[in-house]
Amino acid sequence: MMHLQGNTIDFDTARIKLGNAGKTAGARRKTAKQGEQFEQVQQQLLQSLQTTLEVDQILSLFCTGLKALLQIDALEYRHNSDPNPIQIGQPALHRCSYRLSHAGSYLGELQFSRQQRFSENELLAIETLLGTLLYPLRNALMYREALHCALNDSLTGASNRLALNQNLERDIRQSHRNQQPLALLVLDIDHFKQVNDSYGHAYGDAALKAVVNCISDSLRSVDGLYRLGGEEFVVLLNDTSLDAGRMVAERIRKSVECMQFELDGQPIPLTVSIGLSTLRPEDSVKSLINRGDLLMYQAKRGGRNQVAEEH
Ligand code: GH3
Ligand code: MG
Ligand code: MG
Repeated sequence: MMHLQGNTIDFDTARIKLGNAGKTAGARRKTAKQGEQFEQVQQQLLQSLQTTLEVDQILSLFCTGLKALLQIDALEYRHNSDPNPIQIGQPALHRCSYRLSHAGSYLGELQFSRQQRFSENELLAIETLLGTLLYPLRNALMYREALHCALNDSLTGASNRLALNQNLERDIRQSHRNQQPLALLVLDIDHFKQVNDSYGHAYGDAALKAVVNCISDSLRSVDGLYRLGGEEFVVLLNDTSLDAGRMVAERIRKSVECMQFELDGQPIPLTVSIGLSTLRPEDSVKSLINRGDLLMYQAKRGGRNQVAEEH
């Protein structure tokens, strides 16, 4: 059975008085030494939490500070923008959780757990220390959001060209180092201008999103999907040979072809042409993408709705 202590609170309404711990001092400071230790940890956190903008590093620093004062087995942080919670340590039976918000903006949920029940004094210490987390966590979340906007395409949710350049450079280096193959697909939707011209731009946007979802569903979670621009995409397949790359490309081609995309109950056919290139020792980001692009145009010339690869 899980023991959840009933102290889920908002940052705003919490007993958080940063730099003004006086009200809670009587309850918290059993001895002068404990009070001194608390203030030392609080001061350290105020400084160290300013040294990073990474959410997981901030939580790790906070957890370390808290552990200097009381016993904690695990910390778990969830934010509704990220399906994966951040977890430090192994969760235990007794838990206390906090819904974090500030000035009306949501900052996530934080849960601490351990084998023994938390005492009132310990909860006061946690809540007071949470004050040190407020601004660093808010800044880190804003930074995470800004990074997301910088690296993703807002229409389709696919990663963008900047992300492709960064990731492909890293993946090429890694593939050379580990002597692993790497395959790259360049995809372009066939006759997409006709879709826009016949049904309107808003419908074209919806079709673009549907194609992205269809491609995503055909990929492993480790594969990357990037929007190069317009209706042209790149799929990055790490540790993938020419043969395996061909299978993925065919799977994508078929699933887009079979996709049931309808307007007013009328199915609209959508297909993609795909160029498949594989990493060579002398390749750069540019040369690998360029070869994929040329092969994609070869697939167009071959009649569209097909995969072209190098020989
Ligand atoms: P092909 O088979 O040769 O690729 O023909 P195509 O019509 O797909 O090629 P073309 O490059 O002539 O047209 C691409 C069209 O994609 C042009 C533009 O209207 C459309 N497009 C590009 N980006 C977007 C977008 O974000 N939304 C919508 N709705 N359309 C877009
Ligand atoms: Mg096209
Ligand atoms: Mg195009």
